[in-house]
Amino acid sequence: MSPGEFELIERYFTGRGAVRDDVRLSVGDDAAIVTPRAGADLVLALDTIVADVHFPADTGSRFVGHRALAVNLSDLAAMGAEPAWALLGLTLPAADESWLAGFASGFDELARRFGVALVGGDTTRGPLAATVTVGGWVPVGEALTRSGARHGDDLWVSGTTGDAGAGLAILQARLAAGGAIREQLLRRFLLPEPRVGLGRSLRGIADACIDISDGLAGDLAKLCRASGVGARLDCARLPRSPQLLESAGEVASMRFALTAGDDYELLFTAPPASRHRIEELAAATPVSLVGEITAKPGIHLQGAGLERDLVHGFDHFTD
Ligand code: ADP
Ligand code: MG
Repeated sequence: MSPGEFELIERYFTGRGAVRDDVRLSVGDDAAIVTPRAGADLVLALDTIVADVHFPADTGSRFVGHRALAVNLSDLAAMGAEPAWALLGLTLPAADESWLAGFASGFDELARRFGVALVGGDTTRGPLAATVTVGGWVPVGEALTRSGARHGDDLWVSGTTGDAGAGLAILQARLAAGGAIREQLLRRFLLPEPRVGLGRSLRGIADACIDISDGLAGDLAKLCRASGVGARLDCARLPRSPQLLESAGEVASMRFALTAGDDYELLFTAPPASRHRIEELAAATPVSLVGEITAKPGIHLQGAGLERDLVHGFDHFTD
């Protein structure tokens, strides 16, 4: 490691994120040391974001720093875990200090908000990409998984879907929008909010959970496959924001809501007997009942008769 790299790490990646009692050794040694928590399972996840694959290369660096951590916290949220630490592998074309300052501030702001300490990482030269490993806690045996959905479960989704996809489309000039609508949709793409609080609240309530990173329909198919079940999705109940409807119209907004990625909402299932408990959680995070889990495999999209066109290429259809 050259002295230049040492200084950059010192300046931008030392003491970032939350201060935690369970961190015994952080950035600066060969590895970090943390104290395990009795009675807890350790939940680990890693996600990489690559320039021009997961975000446009000219995206403001504060947003890239936020996204690199947010997509990982979303995975912990989907497991019902409490985030604790992160390791950051950053590959940069050049040591651009203003870019690094923005990246570090976006990462740091989100990390502090969710009690996450940045305890280590690696910094290398190459095409722009950020890999983050996160770790968090869940009481032993209480983690949510994709595989627990049961026939007869309600199917729920948090927030609204399709907004981030519309935001990306605006950035890429595939969708036109102005003013507050444009700002809101761009925000959903640039500053995704991991649903950590909701995920933790769903422990002991949800049978299965997944975060929506690749589009609601595709992620629902993953959850169903992992659980060995199918689902009926009522398209009329899909939560779409007024901004999405206004900018994209009825048909395209449905396509965004079903198939666009990057929303980082939670899709989860629970027995109908838990309905009132879930509705109580909606005071903190909006949730919508959008369908049910069926014994028969496959995803049945129930809606306005447009469905086949809406998810072109989607192979799990029933009528
Ligand atoms: P080594 O060569 O022993 O792997 P490095 O020189 O790569 O160590 O890193 C020095 C210290 O800085 C280590 O503690 C490492 O975890 C930390 N570090 C390096 N890059 C980053 C980064 N992007 N974010 C956080 N910590 C980092
Ligand atoms: Mg290293």
